[in-house]
Amino acid sequence: MKLSIVVPCFNEEQALPYFFEETEKVIQSMDIDREYIFVNDGSSDQTLKVLKEFNELYPEIVHYVDFSRNFGKEAALYAGLIYTTGDFVTVMDADLQDPPELLPKMYELIVNQDYDCVGTRRANRSGEPIIRSFFAIQFYKLINKISQTEMVNGARDFRLMTRQMVDAILKLSEYNRFSKGLFSWVGFKTTYLSYENKERVAGETSWSFWSLFKYSLEGIINFSNAPLLLSAWMGVVSFAISIVMMIFIVVRTIIFGNETSGWTSMVTIMLLIGGIQLLGIGVLGQYIGKIYLEVKKRPVFIIKEFH
Ligand code: UDP
Ligand code: MG
Repeated sequence: MKLSIVVPCFNEEQALPYFFEETEKVIQSMDIDREYIFVNDGSSDQTLKVLKEFNELYPEIVHYVDFSRNFGKEAALYAGLIYTTGDFVTVMDADLQDPPELLPKMYELIVNQDYDCVGTRRANRSGEPIIRSFFAIQFYKLINKISQTEMVNGARDFRLMTRQMVDAILKLSEYNRFSKGLFSWVGFKTTYLSYENKERVAGETSWSFWSLFKYSLEGIINFSNAPLLLSAWMGVVSFAISIVMMIFIVVRTIIFGNETSGWTSMVTIMLLIGGIQLLGIGVLGQYIGKIYLEVKKRPVFIIKEFH
């Protein structure tokens, strides 16, 4: 039996030595072969050099993929999964926020309890800015209402999967990748382990509030048609209202004659309708933008070097 460990790395030169040491300790205590697939996602620091050193020290178990630029964590995960050969695959962050100590338990659950996937979720959101927690919770509430694909609140990407599940994920070769959704979309029997949130061992997070916000919109657009439906409904409602208003105005003019008033109300209505239309077009545009990127069939990532 072999375990593949996929690690996306973006400017992780400081964290990587800790990560490797800790993870090795845990895996050596498990009765299983291992291989590491590190993906250097266009780091601007010495991450690649560190990976090359690992590779020289342990050429049998350490492999690395070097991207031609930064393609984002989703692309790095995808590339890593493609190169795995193990019977079981885990994806882990390089900053030790995904505690390797959980691996034996996860492995045990898959082997003995017949799960296909064991994911992890944070037990709570302590240590996170309050506003961020608030928006995160709202996001999960919203997406679970409007999408068929279940997204578990606080679930991390850190998970252990069987080969079968990984192959299923690799079949989804879409350009717009929202992994949290893809992992859930493929199905399979999944359970979650909770753990206390951990601080990064070194380096800095690459996510700002704004980038998380945009990421959540990605999730909504990639896994739900609700915004489209909403804008269609707004169109129906404003159409219905305008019919009623039309009849009202025509009848009023026939009965009372036309005294050329109502400029204010007319401008207000025009602005309202115009606003609704622009909003509808904007929503539509988001989906068309996604289609545009899909049909171009650009590769999800470009590899400069592979070892
Ligand atoms: N990462 C990546 N490409 C990116 C951003 C991040 O491969 O463009 C990796 C990063 O090296 C880390 C993981 O994704 O291993 C999670 O990133 P980070 O720790 O910054 O996110 P957080 O844990 O704060 O959500
Ligand atoms: Mg992190």
